[in-house]
Amino acid sequence: MSLIDDLLELNLVERQLRGLQSRVNSAEVYFRAQTRQMESLEQRLEELQTRRKQRQVATHGHETDAKTIDERLEKLRNDLNTASTTRQYSTVLEEMNTLKSTRSGTDELILTEMTEIETIDQDLNELQEGINERKTVLDSASTELEERKAEIADRVATLKTEREVKAAVIPESSIEIFNRCAEDFEGDAMAAIEEIDKRRREYCCGSCNLNLPFNVVVQLLGASDTIMQCENCLRILYVTPELKAETVSK
Ligand SMILES: [Zn+2]
Repeated sequence: MSLIDDLLELNLVERQLRGLQSRVNSAEVYFRAQTRQMESLEQRLEELQTRRKQRQVATHGHETDAKTIDERLEKLRNDLNTASTTRQYSTVLEEMNTLKSTRSGTDELILTEMTEIETIDQDLNELQEGINERKTVLDSASTELEERKAEIADRVATLKTEREVKAAVIPESSIEIFNRCAEDFEGDAMAAIEEIDKRRREYCCGSCNLNLPFNVVVQLLGASDTIMQCENCLRILYVTPELKAETVSK
């Protein structure tokens, strides 16, 4: 068999494989979209949890401050009772008043933090519900994907082996060109040359309709072991047996 015949056979297997895999593709796209959404929800969850922790640390700090102030106030109250002079009395009283004002400021700060934590907790609850719902969707998307993969697994394995066998007889450089074309054109790597007008020797690429000089046809007819790519769509050109028979007969 000629190189072109080998490539055509390889292309046939390649197209079957890609056809099968396209059945899985839509399930894969859906699964990936669901995964991304889940990831962004989880990221938001992490952000909220971090903010909650920061608020808790701040609250704890304010509470410690309040406790220190309370202890100091307690001591000052004793001092007040045992104050022997008016001056002592008023000094203690002044400090107590300042501390009480600071203490009420601290209470406000604690209240603000608590309110903020409550708001965060509400957001966390809603978010957790969202995550639970998304998880159900994600699980079924994953099951669907696995089922589709399983459906085609045997056939894909057979075709992959077949592709290896077909590729083994083709030179490495040609395989590289073929693989590139197959990748770029979703398995549609080869283009048959079509006859436009036999008398005027007009031919074109069957894939993109680019006019091909007659000598390209002649070259391909003469040496079926060279690869020629369409200058426009870059697919590997080949002459069908029908065209060959017709061109050679005259
Ligand atoms: Zn073309």
